Amino acid sequence: MATPKREPHRPAPRDRGACARSPDEVERFFARLAAANPQPATELRYHDPFTLLVAVVLSAQSTDAGVNRATRELFRHARTPKEMVALGEERIAEIIRTLGLYRNKAKNLVALSRILLERHGGEVPRSREALEALPGVGRKTANVVLNEAFGEPTIAVDTHVFRVCNRTGLAPGRTPREVEETLARVVPERYRRGAHHWLILLGRYTCKARRPECWRCPVADICRHPDKTPAPAPSPRGDRSGRPAPKASAARR
Ligand code: SF4
Repeated sequence: MATPKREPHRPAPRDRGACARSPDEVERFFARLAAANPQPATELRYHDPFTLLVAVVLSAQSTDAGVNRATRELFRHARTPKEMVALGEERIAEIIRTLGLYRNKAKNLVALSRILLERHGGEVPRSREALEALPGVGRKTANVVLNEAFGEPTIAVDTHVFRVCNRTGLAPGRTPREVEETLARVVPERYRRGAHHWLILLGRYTCKARRPECWRCPVADICRHPDKTPAPAPSPRGDRSGRPAPKASAARR
């Protein structure tokens, strides 16, 4: 899960920390996302709270697909804190070398596994404070683990959530923390657990950073982004893919 690097959608000072949508609009926003995907889940592959924690630590500045490729091999060798410590930093680094910051991540995995063994009986703690005390674990990672592994209504703000919340006016903010705090206030209780997933998926597949696909966005009428992307012109083949029509000879084959 990528970390917000910059602020591409800087909110006006009057908007910061305040939802620019009415409660009814927020309700409709999430109702639509929930109707399209009633059981949202992370795209990271994991087996239990520990492997989830490992996957989320590895996802900093990496894609979920890249993390899944790395953990497929890593989890063949180590699925518990004890096995992770035994595997060792060098070997972990070798296995996850396709990920950014892999040396630091390998070091953190060994260090956090040691702490889990020494202070938590080898279990992942269900406490924000204890999670954030682990090496490589910040607020966003703790939020994901608390939500996904323990069912807490936390909302992690990654780069996608940050962008979507600012563009739509759902939770304008200068920092992920500001956005998270507004979301915690305005997202109706029943949508809290799924909110993080719905917002990530909306940002990843529809409200993309460079060119949001507003023409097929389920919340376009609620979103207040001023520069909505129009639908691409239909191609000669009649679709909206932008691809040229096939040549007559190719079409006949
Ligand atoms: S309408 Fe466009 S800018 Fe607004 S949320 Fe949808 S894709 Fe993003």
